[in-house]
Amino acid sequence: MKKHYLLTPGPTPVPPEVALKEALPILHHRTSEFGAVFSEVAEGLKYVYKTKNDVLIMAASGTGAMESAIVNLLNPGDEALVATCGNFGERWTKLLEAYGCKPTVISVEWGKAVNPADIEKALKANAKIKAVYTQFTETSTGVVNDISAIGRIVDKTPAAFVVDAISGLAGQEFLTDDWKVDVCVSGSQKGLMLGPGLAFVSVSAKAWKLAEEAKLPRFYWDWRKMKKSLATKETPFTPAVTLIVALSEAIKMIKAKGIENVWAENKLHAKAARAGMKAIGLELFGENPCDVVTSAKVPEGVDGGKIVKTLREEYGVSIAGGQAQLKGKIIRFAHMGYIGKADLLVGFACLEMVLSKLGYKLEKGKAVAAAEEVLLNG
Ligand SMILES: *Cc1c(COP(=O)(O)O)cnc(C)c1O
Repeated sequence: MKKHYLLTPGPTPVPPEVALKEALPILHHRTSEFGAVFSEVAEGLKYVYKTKNDVLIMAASGTGAMESAIVNLLNPGDEALVATCGNFGERWTKLLEAYGCKPTVISVEWGKAVNPADIEKALKANAKIKAVYTQFTETSTGVVNDISAIGRIVDKTPAAFVVDAISGLAGQEFLTDDWKVDVCVSGSQKGLMLGPGLAFVSVSAKAWKLAEEAKLPRFYWDWRKMKKSLATKETPFTPAVTLIVALSEAIKMIKAKGIENVWAENKLHAKAARAGMKAIGLELFGENPCDVVTSAKVPEGVDGGKIVKTLREEYGVSIAGGQAQLKGKIIRFAHMGYIGKADLLVGFACLEMVLSKLGYKLEKGKAVAAAEEVLLNG
């Protein structure tokens, strides 16, 4: 018997109140009963997104919603700008290429944030760019991009601004409308405290204009169909009924707490996580650390993969390692959604034990003490 602690940047733990909703009998989706829940969720998402735009709900992982933000905005051969600083940024490029579009890629070293001035330059140099794609929190590195600054730049051009906030939404301050984000993509399994399986996009008037004219092939991902169904409190195809019912509970919890308080709490948890890492001599990875996940370099002489594996196998604690070029080189500790202060302390206590066991010299209790100090006194 092992108790599981899920401290990964997606999926994240599901609160029991939300999980219980997933166990209720399935509602039929063409009924007023389901319609009431569905429209409540669609409205609730606007609160989380800080937007007046429609938020469309689809049965998919986050990547499905990313794909929808290609096929609904562009024509074959269209030019787009990708500003990437990690593994998820590269996904935009791959998606664009898969559909025969032409991405101009601004790629910064993993661990750094995208420079808004580079985006301004690229847009000035090429008037044909129809959409700009980037990440809010780049989960693979733990870096947050300055979406507000980029939004101000893109807003002055005809291009649509598309942001992947799959891990950042409901995690740290994100203001869709104030930051001039035309399309914001998100998913259920990170800050929203749900199991995987739902994806969301908010769509601005500027983006709707492109969506009306886009010529890439689309069927399941067609936003126009989703918008039409939204008006009758439905989805074009069978929705993930259980997840939508559960989401209404998760949004209730977020509203009861206040989204601003969720952001503030995660900010404090992030500070505590950084203090904990540093206290045992681990070097933080990257600049501009976000509030939803903390990355630290694997110390010299320790096997990064073994840290993650031992934590999971011996203590039931799941954290994430590095992806792609960062495989084995960093560890990532999430603090978003239903991950709370006590989880953080458990995570650090077990991390200290595992690092000791793997031969890394540290003074036991130091990471926990440093995190406690921040959690107590800010
Ligand atoms: C998790 C994540 C994704 C991928 O989402 P899936 O639900 O696995 O498709 C994309 N972008 C970011 C920033 C993420 O954190």
